[in-house]
Amino acid sequence: MELEFFGAAGEVTGSCHILRMGGRQLLLDCGMIQGGRDAPERNRLPFPFAVASIDAVVLSHAHIDHCGRLPLLVKRGYRGPIYTNGACAELVPILLRDSAKLALADAERASRRLPPGASMATPLYDLADVETTLGLLRPIPYDLPRTLLPGITVRVRDAGHILGSSSVELWAGEGGATRKLVFSGDLGQYDTPILHDPWRFESADVVLMESTYGNRLHRGRADTERELGDILAQAARDGGNVIVPAFAIGRSQELLYLLAKHYAQWQVARWKIFLDSPMAIAASRIYWRNPDRFDEEASRLRAGFRGLPALPNLVLAESADDSRAINNVRGGAIVIAGSGMANGGRVLHHLRHNLPRPECHVLIVGFQAPGTLGRQLVDGAPEVRIHGRPVRNAAKVHTLGGLSAHGDQGDLLRWYDSFTPRPPVYLVHGEVASAEALAGKLRERGAVATVTRPGLKVDLSALESLARDNPST
Ligand SMILES: [Zn+2]
Repeated sequence: MELEFFGAAGEVTGSCHILRMGGRQLLLDCGMIQGGRDAPERNRLPFPFAVASIDAVVLSHAHIDHCGRLPLLVKRGYRGPIYTNGACAELVPILLRDSAKLALADAERASRRLPPGASMATPLYDLADVETTLGLLRPIPYDLPRTLLPGITVRVRDAGHILGSSSVELWAGEGGATRKLVFSGDLGQYDTPILHDPWRFESADVVLMESTYGNRLHRGRADTERELGDILAQAARDGGNVIVPAFAIGRSQELLYLLAKHYAQWQVARWKIFLDSPMAIAASRIYWRNPDRFDEEASRLRAGFRGLPALPNLVLAESADDSRAINNVRGGAIVIAGSGMANGGRVLHHLRHNLPRPECHVLIVGFQAPGTLGRQLVDGAPEVRIHGRPVRNAAKVHTLGGLSAHGDQGDLLRWYDSFTPRPPVYLVHGEVASAEALAGKLRERGAVATVTRPGLKVDLSALESLARDNPST
């Protein structure tokens, strides 16, 4: 019985871990590596395990750094089941089809740089691989244990990160001994709009935990909403546009929700709001179709919505022409567009047109990986490159950490504190500095905390048995 870390070990993206037991192998996530010049090459590397030996996959949520290499796994021969929560299974097709389109565009761009006569660069995977992958999805509901393989039982719990996001409870039994592992997946903030709080666990023998913001504290919810209102007021005075690079799933819906909630107070009527992302539009429709996953406040507000939040000044920009037309808007627009780290997508056009203008504002609402344009903006770069050309950055850039889909250090500690007694914890999904800071805090609480690196193995059968529940017995 053994656990091994492959991806998102010592970094944020590329989530992938493997559980081996009794000759069977189960993969937790199979995500894309994002950010950094070498990311495309790293994504193409052979998997550090035999694809044919994987019996099942459990997917924590629909973000591409968790599901983005599933089609590659399939392209390389995987045909087993992919278990995930039902709402996640609704979102995954949107993300993976988009990812295949981006992979094709990348390959075409790479081919143009090849010498004449050279064979064309192949995309990481194509739409056919994605469709095969989607056929392997096996939706599972929250809160019901399910035996996936002999000796392996799984139960997914709401992680409160994005719609359909899960923390995974996993019981592995071999030779009469059972060990319980809890994989946090990505954890949302507590008391955040729309979604429930992360599930409160009680016991486990070992915990795998994300550490994205292990060294940071976000502003409180009320302060964050006030800050957003203040930024919009300042931007209205300046007379320019507000550009928001936002992940299609999660942040886009939360922003629309907040604009609807504070419609009168923030004088939202004076803005024209563009949701410039077919993916975000599709994801928003899925969000609003799944109200059973909403917290009380969202359920109350939703009573006034039909479909998307009822913003009379919301424009859904579906086509590329719709998107290009926004370039002519010189002021009074809030433009929510992907990608969330501004390393591709429609938001690049909007940044190219608006960054040089001091009356414009850029609102950063999510995590920005090193090497992305979004990170350069957060770091205050006076000039950036977009589509190969230098662009002067004269706009005002705001980072609204409190809107992040990820809990901060306080949230992460609160999540871990529910485990008694303290199980050993392995930190994944964080840059090393962030994971180390969280490890320090966890050790102060008496936990044995380890910052992971690729290839690190944990012998589960050697762990002390601490878990009190076992649905398979
Ligand atoms: Zn995520």
